[in-house]
Amino acid sequence: MEVALIGYTSDPELAIATAARVSSSSTTAPELLRKLTRDQVDSLIKQLISRGHLSPFEHASFTFAISGISRVTSHQLVRHRLASYTQQSQRYVSLKKLNYVIPATISVNPEIESKYHEAVRNAHQLYLNMLDADIPAEDARYVLPQAMETNLVMTMNARELMHACSLRLCLKAQWEIVQLFQAIKGEVERVAPRIGAELKPKCYQLGYCDEAESCGIFPTKEEIEVKVR
Ligand SMILES: Cc1cc2nc3c(=O)[nH]c(=O)nc-3n(C[C@H](O)[C@H](O)[C@H](O)COP(=O)(O)OP(=O)(O)OC[C@H]3O[C@@H](n4cnc5c(N)ncnc54)[C@H](O)[C@@H]3O)c2cc1C
Repeated sequence: MEVALIGYTSDPELAIATAARVSSSSTTAPELLRKLTRDQVDSLIKQLISRGHLSPFEHASFTFAISGISRVTSHQLVRHRLASYTQQSQRYVSLKKLNYVIPATISVNPEIESKYHEAVRNAHQLYLNMLDADIPAEDARYVLPQAMETNLVMTMNARELMHACSLRLCLKAQWEIVQLFQAIKGEVERVAPRIGAELKPKCYQLGYCDEAESCGIFPTKEEIEVKVR
């Protein structure tokens, strides 16, 4: 998989801090943009997070080029509704070249792995045969497996990035989407370290794990209650 940040709000942290300051200042945003120091930006962002005042984070957007993820993962990704997506079409693009994802649990088992490759290749061969038989790509694609790789562009604001990361950086989420959001976090950290630092699993905000079983980073609520009793 490859994740590249291909566009973002210029100085995203300053944009957020300026928007936040506008709410409690007689000064205009252009003036604040000139006056706010880096330390003030840092401290404003910290305050917003600790008070749960998250709407200013909607003023910073990030656009990512994501390639080589499976259709399994792109389907999970687009469930995050507060974002914009443009995905490679399987109607207009004939997938003559076979690119697909192999989960590690499958690749460590040679017998299963070879059957997996065979099943994917057979499905793809039938797809190619259908294209040769003049069946439109939009219909031939029904036979393609969810393992097939896809490419897309996604634009998400910092508030939704924090929300999506809270769910998808949780180690209880599926490995491929965890890897995807780890890469997204890495890209944000490069240009906006304060925002990047806030991209973390939900347990860091909650102070406990709300899953049935903890990965070990934080205890579950039940485990904490047992200790308190
Ligand atoms: C580990 C894991 C397992 C999952 N398993 C399943 C599964 O088995 N089946 C399944 O169908 N899905 C599953 N999902 C997807 C999940 O149900 C959500 O669709 C997905 O995580 C998107 O998150 P979201 O709905 O919080 O918010 P987003 O779409 O990211 O929206 C952000 C927030 O905006 C608000 N919001 C957005 N739209 C609305 C709206 N229409 N009305 C009111 N408030 C809104 C909500 O507060 C929401 O939390 C799973 C997700 C995870 C992380």
